[in-house]
Amino acid sequence: MSDCIFCKIIAGEIPSSRIFEDELIYVFKDINPKASVHLLVIPKQHIARLDHANQQHASLLAHMMLSLPKIAESQGLDNGFRTIINTGPGGGQEVDHLHIHILGGDKMPGFN
Ligand code: AMP
Repeated sequence: MSDCIFCKIIAGEIPSSRIFEDELIYVFKDINPKASVHLLVIPKQHIARLDHANQQHASLLAHMMLSLPKIAESQGLDNGFRTIINTGPGGGQEVDHLHIHILGGDKMPGFN
């Protein structure tokens, strides 16, 4: 989508700290990290929100989910990590391109 900031990152039109990419996903560092490791995992296909995904996206979503452990491990998170998906304004989603946050390391904020 032409006015989507994350689509522009995938296209290289906006700089990012890329960690990993393959044919389906792009992974980069969050610009405003909430933990010592804070990554964003996004699909290369524009899906605005998790609740806009449907059965046609099932294998893509599975690929995203199954990629998380190896991405986290590649950043030294061998003791575990947290994942967050914010969906819509009620979920605090600020960027309308589906993304999975990976958080971990020393400065991980409390949750419970
Ligand atoms: P959310 O609130 O779930 O929509 O999270 C959006 C995240 O995108 C926030 O944590 C932002 O810090 C991050 N973000 C926004 N713009 C950029 C950017 N240009 N590069 C990296 N991360 C970004």
